[in-house]
Amino acid sequence: MHYPEPLEKLIQFLKKMPGVGRKTAERFAFHLLLWPKNQLVEFADAIAKAQEKLNTCQECGCLLDTSPCPFCDISKRQTHLLCIVGSVKDIFLIEKTREFRGLYHVLGGLLSPITGQSPALLRIDILKKRIEKYHVKEVILALDSTLEGDVTAHFLKKELDSLSLLASRLALGLPMGSSLDYIDGGTLARAFSGRRTF
Ligand SMILES: [Zn+2]
Repeated sequence: MHYPEPLEKLIQFLKKMPGVGRKTAERFAFHLLLWPKNQLVEFADAIAKAQEKLNTCQECGCLLDTSPCPFCDISKRQTHLLCIVGSVKDIFLIEKTREFRGLYHVLGGLLSPITGQSPALLRIDILKKRIEKYHVKEVILALDSTLEGDVTAHFLKKELDSLSLLASRLALGLPMGSSLDYIDGGTLARAFSGRRTF
């Protein structure tokens, strides 16, 4: 017995979420059907508006609903430091630790030998231009401790080698295989202050 088509469609959408399999998607779908109609409309509207109202900063790559970008405001940030992150979410995690006041660069993802993610998504040209423009002295790689994070870090190190800057990587307390989101604020803060030259 198959589910009615509109319900199956909802399940298929929910299954696209990271970490959500068929069973969880079914549970979510049945749960959503219990919500009052006005709440469901608000939910759908919030999803649609999130993308519509957010802009990508052309410099750092962060998502914002304000302009100019607070992370690129050179009157408030230390421009000799630049932190490279894998996703926009990581900027907000790092800001919460209050350990870092430099600039950010969001990669469009991490390189993957398995899925074949190419270096084009790293926005390297923009990164190099900003390093030169702001006379950046140290680049901090705040990448996940995963195979993809390692491959990306080595690639970046090679790319930035000619720019004569210090490259460091968060290491302390980050177990292998961990992504930044699973690390508590205290550990992330320690990882920042204890960063190692890479
Ligand atoms: Zn920015």
